[in-house]
Order: sequence, then structure tokens, then C-alpha cells
Amino acid sequence: MQDTPVALVTGANKGIGRQIAKDLAAHGFTVLVGSRTLEHGEAAATSIGAAAHALQLDVTDQASIAAAAERIRHEFGRLDVLVNNAGISHAGRMNAQFPASAQSGLLTVAPLDDVRAVFETNVFGVIAVTQAMLPLLREAPAARIVNVGSTGGSLTWNADPANPHRAMFGTYSASKTALHAVTLAFAFALESTGIKVNIACPGFTATALNNFRGTRTVEQGAREAVRLALLGSDGPTGTFSDEDGPVPW
Ligand code: NAP
Repeated sequence: MQDTPVALVTGANKGIGRQIAKDLAAHGFTVLVGSRTLEHGEAAATSIGAAAHALQLDVTDQASIAAAAERIRHEFGRLDVLVNNAGISHAGRMNAQFPASAQSGLLTVAPLDDVRAVFETNVFGVIAVTQAMLPLLREAPAARIVNVGSTGGSLTWNADPANPHRAMFGTYSASKTALHAVTLAFAFALESTGIKVNIACPGFTATALNNFRGTRTVEQGAREAVRLALLGSDGPTGTFSDEDGPVPW
């Protein structure tokens, strides 16, 4: 087993995930750059430096997930941090570009197969990857799991009629709400182990996910997830926050 702690970031070939991987490498981690296309992961790993290694990982493909867990055990022998960052805002069929994709994702019109595809990546993918990595995480001295959620999925904020963003509350937002619940479920189930499970919102960040309309940089978007990945033993579990502090569920 290597001495350096190991972090896996899913969907780290671009966007916020790549920045989280870069920041964790700067904090001394060996970083596994999860990418469903290996070449894209290799390009990202090269851009980060020698501490980064590409890892083929499609969060919707059980064989890919199992092979990734197997490779981590045999090549690195440990896993200390899992950042479930991979996510999609739409299934890529109807009106694929944001903000039109937010309209076509409204549950009054979204094709059920598209809803399923978004939940497959954003919700079931996180459960599948976390379950596969848990044996390694349980062996680590102080494992941390960070999920990447969204204030857009906050039921409290969206239930407020004064919130203008609730006009966009559809498939993607509902998938993030479900992910928030999944995060709490893992946090509760692992409470006695010392493994901390928290969820970060990056804020509206300029990435391919929103056709680069976001107002924050990926450096800003990565910060809260990185902070949660580095929590000490006195840190919390089962929290939802962004850079400004706690976010209501
Ligand atoms: P992005 O640039 O589109 O990156 C998304 C990443 O997820 C890409 O690496 C993508 O890989 C990967 N991915 C998608 N499906 C996957 C799968 N089945 N298996 C493995 N990887 C997969 O978007 P981003 O903004 O950085 O998104 C990162 C996270 O932040 C997402 O969970 C998103 O919901 C969340 N978030 C973003 C914002 C924002 O304003 N940008 C706000 C709140 C939350 P490919 O390159 O292969 O497509």
C-alpha cells in the first residue's frame, strides 16, 4: 500500500471535476481522474501532473465501476477520498443546450427515458460507485465522501414562491434533490465508522453543463468540495453547503 493518500474524482476529465482533482493533487493526494473516455482522462491527468492518473470510469456501467475498484486496490492499495462529481443536466436529446434544456427537462414534458437517464447518472451512479468503493474507503484511516449537489435541488429554497429559479425545477433539479437524500442516507449509515459524507454545491459555474453560462470559475466551483474532502476528524457529516455556508435541504 502506498503512503500517499489517494483520491478518486468521478467525471474529472473536464469542468469542476478536473479542478477538484487538480486541487487535491496540490494538497498531496495521488489523484485518480475518473473519466468515461480514457483518452480524455489521460489528457486531464497530464494537464494536472505526475500525481494524477487516468481511470476509466462510467458511473452508469457496473462493469466499468467494478474494474475501476479492482484497479485501485491492485495498483494503489487504498482510497481515502471519493468525490462523486460526474453529472449531466439533460439526456442530450431534446433541446440539448442550456437554458433551453431546463425547459425541456420540466416534468410536464420530459420523456420518461430522459428522466431515467439523468437519474441513472446523477443518483444511481453515485450509489453504485460509492458502494463499489466502500470496502477500500472503510480500510482508510479517515475516509471522506463528497457528493456534488446543487442549490437548484434545495426543496426549502424552491418551495418559496419568491424564488425565480423554481421555474426551472425539473428533471435535473429533482435528480439533485434525490442525490441530497442519498447523501444523507450514506452519512447516517456510516456515522459509526468515522467516514464523513457531505454534499457541496459549486455555485453557478461556467462549464459545458450550462453551455458556459455560469458566472463562477471552475477554481471557485471546486472550493467547497475540496474543503469537505479535507475535513479533519472534528469535521461534520451529513451536511449540505456551498462556499457561503450551510444550504437548506
Ligand atoms: P461538465 O463540465 O459537463 O462535467 C461533467 C463531468 O461528468 C464530465 O467529466 C462528464 O464526462 C462526466 N460524466 C457525465 N456522465 C458520466 C458518466 N456516466 N460517467 C462518468 N462521468 C460522466 O459539468 P460540471 O459543471 O463540471 O459538473 C460537475 C458537477 O457539478 C455535476 O454533478 C453538476 O451537476 C454539478 N453542478 C454544476 C453546476 C454548474 O453551474 N456548472 C452547478 C451545480 C452543480 P464527459 O466529458 O465524458 O461528458
